[in-house]
Amino acid sequence: RAKEFGGNRTVYYSETAEREVFEKVKLRTELRRALEREEFLLYYQPKVELRTEKVVGAEALLRWNRGGEIVPPIKFIPLLEESELIHEVGEWVVREACRQAQEWRSKGIELSIAVNVSPLQMKVPLFAESFMMLIFGCGEGSGSIEVEITESAVMEDVERMIEILKILTVRGIRTYIDDFGTGYSSLAYLKKLPVYALKIDREFVKGIPQDEDNLEIVKATVNIAKSFGLKTVAEGVETREQAEILKELGCDYAQGYYFGKPVPPEEFESYIR
Ligand code: C2E
Ligand code: MG
Ligand code: MG
Ligand code: MG
Repeated sequence: RAKEFGGNRTVYYSETAEREVFEKVKLRTELRRALEREEFLLYYQPKVELRTEKVVGAEALLRWNRGGEIVPPIKFIPLLEESELIHEVGEWVVREACRQAQEWRSKGIELSIAVNVSPLQMKVPLFAESFMMLIFGCGEGSGSIEVEITESAVMEDVERMIEILKILTVRGIRTYIDDFGTGYSSLAYLKKLPVYALKIDREFVKGIPQDEDNLEIVKATVNIAKSFGLKTVAEGVETREQAEILKELGCDYAQGYYFGKPVPPEEFESYIR
């Protein structure tokens, strides 16, 4: 297509591509230093039990403070994954979550903290065992740290994931299937998955109760989960009406801007108080 516009366009495109590659290389170099420079931080978003409207936990969401600009994970997690840095950063996330749980406990705030785990981390042999050692090494019991794995990651290698989830579950870690509904689970597998809860992707929570298709999807998901003995968490709850309808449908927990956006730990603490 570039040829139609003559040589100039071709040059323009390649310059853009070059700039993109350059920007990526630069980001990657910066990311490599970000850990040592302690530029990563965790934001926390409340998880609320719908029945009681009590905050029962928090999800830790990674951020990068790049010279004062707070960069969201979508912008840099793919790069971390490409460059293998995801393993070190993933470990940092767990340590930091443990540290935060301890700090909050010492202040009388008793919360479980859920960390997100990249599928690449789980591909490492003995992931579950290493994960448990990491937590115990931080002086944490297993009750306070929870694990979120996306449905698509689980489906990539179901048999292996079942083994990993089994070990975590036996050790007392609550596990969640994140972004549920976007990753083509089969019901046969769902029944076999030793997880605590399904997190219904916010794509399906969007627009309920007016969006009837989504409402039916959420309803069906809650019921399937129930029949398999799993809890449900609704993601992306933005209105009181959504929270109420979800509660009526029997959904157990919710997260979303209605209850609270992800915020730095100090802000989360004042939110809790
Ligand atoms: P996720 O685990 O599904 O996290 C939920 C995302 O939805 C968060 O985006 C959160 O800010 C956003 N969200 C929560 N409530 C609402 C709402 O009511 N409305 C809308 N529009 N959005 C809402 P965030 O923090 O940008 O994270 C994006 C994704 O990055 C996460 O999706 C997770 O997959 C990944 N991620 C975050 N932290 C980590 C981490 O430490 N390790 C790994 N491997 N992935 C992470
Ligand atoms: Mg998550
Ligand atoms: Mg999610
Ligand atoms: Mg999501």
